[in-house]
This record gives sequence, structure tokens and C-alpha cells, in this order.
Amino acid sequence: MKRRDFLTRFMAATGALTLGMGCKRRADQSATETDRFTLTAGTGKTITEPARNIPVLAETDVLVVGGGPAGSAAAIAAARTGAETYLVERYNHLGGLWTGGLVLPLLSTHGVDREKRRRQVIFGIGGEMAQRLADMGMAIHEINPVIDPEAGKYVLDDMIDDAGVKMLYHTMAVNAIMQNNTVRGVFIESKSGRMAILAKVVIDCTGDGDVFHWAGEDYDVMKYHIGLVHRLGNIDRIDTGNPDYKPLRLGEPTPIPGVNWVNMGGEREQDGLDVENLSRLQLQYRRNIWESVEKIKRNPGHEQVFLLDTASQLGVRMSRIMEGEYKLTLEDSMTYKSFDDVIGVSGAWTTMLFNGRRIPEEERPMWQIPYRSLLPKKTDNLLVAGRCFCFERELTEDTRSVGSCLITGHAAGTAAAISVLDRENVRNINIKKLQDLLVDQDVWLG
Ligand SMILES: Cc1cc2nc3c(=O)[nH]c(=O)nc-3n(C[C@H](O)[C@H](O)[C@H](O)COP(=O)(O)OP(=O)(O)OC[C@H]3O[C@@H](n4cnc5c(N)ncnc54)[C@H](O)[C@@H]3O)c2cc1C
Repeated sequence: MKRRDFLTRFMAATGALTLGMGCKRRADQSATETDRFTLTAGTGKTITEPARNIPVLAETDVLVVGGGPAGSAAAIAAARTGAETYLVERYNHLGGLWTGGLVLPLLSTHGVDREKRRRQVIFGIGGEMAQRLADMGMAIHEINPVIDPEAGKYVLDDMIDDAGVKMLYHTMAVNAIMQNNTVRGVFIESKSGRMAILAKVVIDCTGDGDVFHWAGEDYDVMKYHIGLVHRLGNIDRIDTGNPDYKPLRLGEPTPIPGVNWVNMGGEREQDGLDVENLSRLQLQYRRNIWESVEKIKRNPGHEQVFLLDTASQLGVRMSRIMEGEYKLTLEDSMTYKSFDDVIGVSGAWTTMLFNGRRIPEEERPMWQIPYRSLLPKKTDNLLVAGRCFCFERELTEDTRSVGSCLITGHAAGTAAAISVLDRENVRNINIKKLQDLLVDQDVWLG
């Protein structure tokens, strides 16, 4: 943006913000609320930040916060449906944990239908991403494909760009701008300073539910195991002919020959919202990985194996889960429950415990996701997609998969655009119209 344009927007927007009195009061309130740190230590002191005028960078139709699988799909869907769309991402790439977290398998692509056939369920924008990666030779396996992370970043960039999404990398959303119960945008922080983006609809795809937290929604906080994924190189140079060779567990193959990805369960019951805890785990895990690779190299035949990289995003599996309009249950998902407001279907990737029985992946029913599970209870003009939409904890393993996040993201983006184009609150959009559009956009609704 040219400096003159920026200043014009800044002046206009400053006026708009100053006029929105209710907005200012609520924004201040919400700023105080965010001071509820969950730090284990801390000095116990607080400090008051002086009030100041904040430049408004943009006023847009749809603002997506967080560029993981959910946020990328949401932004592409909103822009393709005809809404001006901004996407804000704190790091330098799209894909979130899928690419930056080196969590490479796109899980839940298949589920079992009522006729007990295992079939593909993930289509739409997620299916398109998977297909493009497969066509490039950068995905392996048809069911739950494993992708190359750099190819993933490239494809997502390309799709965002092609859809006309206005991308802001290196930008962290830091608070919601509220007018009574309506979210009007977010404050952002970057090397350009503190600014605001105003939007008609905001989609929270932060994974951690940052926006609904700031907006004052109720939520559950799930402490779960946090890991750090890494990749190993030269797996194809392991000398299995060495007389002292013994096979080691060295992760799983990726599309790049000789490169494996290695998952990490990590410590259990970890707080993914405590920055001190995250820093402690980051330090410890990176050291552990380095030392474990040094050990691997001392094994006969493994001398050439090396640490290719550790993930740039720490593996926070779960944190906040929104209390939304409808809490999707494990039972819903195990009993083929149909919803009038279905917006997508997801599949299986692991064994799930249901009614005391372990249901293996190959038998696990496909399951519908209702629109109401993306809707917060109190806040208007807000949608939530990705690993923090509304579901019960027992369903976590399935709702947090990349496939499920792509499905909820796609639906939230299309719904947000309909809300803007029809000038209707996201709560009251025409569900039939949403479903018809999703089907047109190649989403499978079961
Ligand atoms: C160790 C580990 C292994 C896993 N294994 C698999 C697997 O094999 N297959 C699978 O399908 N799933 C796996 N998962 C789960 C899956 O990766 C995630 O649940 C999924 O990526 C969540 O998608 P999301 O878009 O909701 O959030 P995320 O992927 O977490 O993306 C959120 C994005 O928002 C950005 N963001 C957050 N807050 C802000 C903010 N305030 N301002 C700006 N940007 C922000 C983040 O930087 C990030 O890019 C694994 C997860 C972990 C941690």
C-alpha cells in the first residue's frame, strides 16, 4: 500500500474507531481480560499500558486469523466465494502444524459409510490441496497421504494468491475489537507496530482459540501431550550390509527419498497456553532430538544419518475448545448422526474407544460436522474452525486431524462470505444456500 493510501485509511479508520464508542469500551475491557496469564511463575505485578490511537491497516469483508490447515482453507473459500479476505499469520508460512509442525500425514481422508464401505470423505479445498501435492509427486499414499512440507507451503501460497487473499505474514493478532457482543476485527502486532484490521466477519483459526478467548466466549482448556517433530536425512544411506547392523525405529517415509519424519508424543498434560512452559519444552525437546540423532549415528551402518530439521512450530496438540452452539459428541460420530446443518464429513485415522470397545480405523464410521459447532454462543460475526471448534474431549483425536481442520475451515470461509454478501449475521445465514455452495465447491456432505 502507498503511504498516502495508508494515511488516508488511517485517518478514516481512526475516525471510525473513535465514533464506535461501545467498541472502544469493550475493546479496553477485553484487553484487561487478556492479562489473565497462565504463567507458572511471574512477578505477580501488573503494569498499566497507556491508551493510544491505533492505525487501521484495513477494513475488509472477512478476516481469517491463523494460517494453519483450517485458516488456509477458510481464506481460500471466503475469497473464492466473493468476499474481500485478509489472512493473518504469525509465522512465515501457511499450513500451521501440518507444514511448520512437520506433522506431514493429512489424516481422516477416509471413513466407513453405512454400507460398511471404506470411502474417501475429504474433498473440497482440502482434497484439492492433496491432489495438487500428489500430482507434483509430493504426497505418498492414497489414504491419509503424507506430504512434503515445503511443497505444502508452496501449494498453499499459490492457492491463497490465486484466490486473491490479502496475506499478512509475520503478524500476530493480539486482541479482539469488540462492540458489545459483536467482533469488529482484531488488533495486530508486527514489525510495523500495533495496528487494527476491521472486518464484517472474523474467523478464528488460531488453533488455540485466541479470538474467542478475547471475545469473552466460554471454553474448556485441554492439557494434552506436546511434542516436537523432526526429520532425518540419509535414511537411504543406512548400510544394512554392515555385519553389526541392527534396525532402529527411525520414523516414517516422506515423499523425499531418504528423508523420514519422526513424530514425538512428548510430555503429557501440558499447558499449551503457558509461554514459559512452551519455552521449557522447546529447549528440552531440541536438545533431546540432537542427542538422540548423535546416538543413532553411533550405531553400525547409521553413520550417515543426520538431523535434517526440527519443526519450526512446537507441537501443541490441544488447548482451548470452544463452548459453541452445538457440542459434537463421540456418540454422534460413531452412530452416523445426520445434521440438518451438515457442512462436511470427516473420517478416521486411529482406534477410538466407544462404549468400552476399541473401534479400529478400518471400521470407524465417517461422521458429519454441523454448522452450529463452528458458531460461538455469545459473539456475533465470529466463526471458529480447526482444532478448537465445539466438540467433546472424547472426540479430540478425530476433530484435530488435518483433514477435519480443512473441512471446518472450508465451511467457515464459505459461510463468512455468504454472511457478507447477503448482509446477514453468520448465525442467520441460509443453511441450504451454504450447503449448495459447498457442494458446488466439491465438498462432500454425506
Ligand atoms: C506432534 C503432533 C503430531 C500430529 N500428527 C498429526 C498427523 O499425523 N496428522 C494429522 O492430520 N494431524 C496431526 N496432528 C494434528 C494437526 O496437526 C493439528 O491439529 C492441525 O494442524 C490443526 O490445524 P489448525 O488449522 O486448527 O491449527 P494449527 O495447525 O495449529 O494452525 C494455527 C495457525 O495459526 C497461527 N496462529 C496462532 N495464533 C495466532 C495469532 N494470535 N495470530 C496470528 N497467527 C496465529 C499459527 O502460527 C498457526 O500457523 C498432530 C499434531 C501434533 C502437535
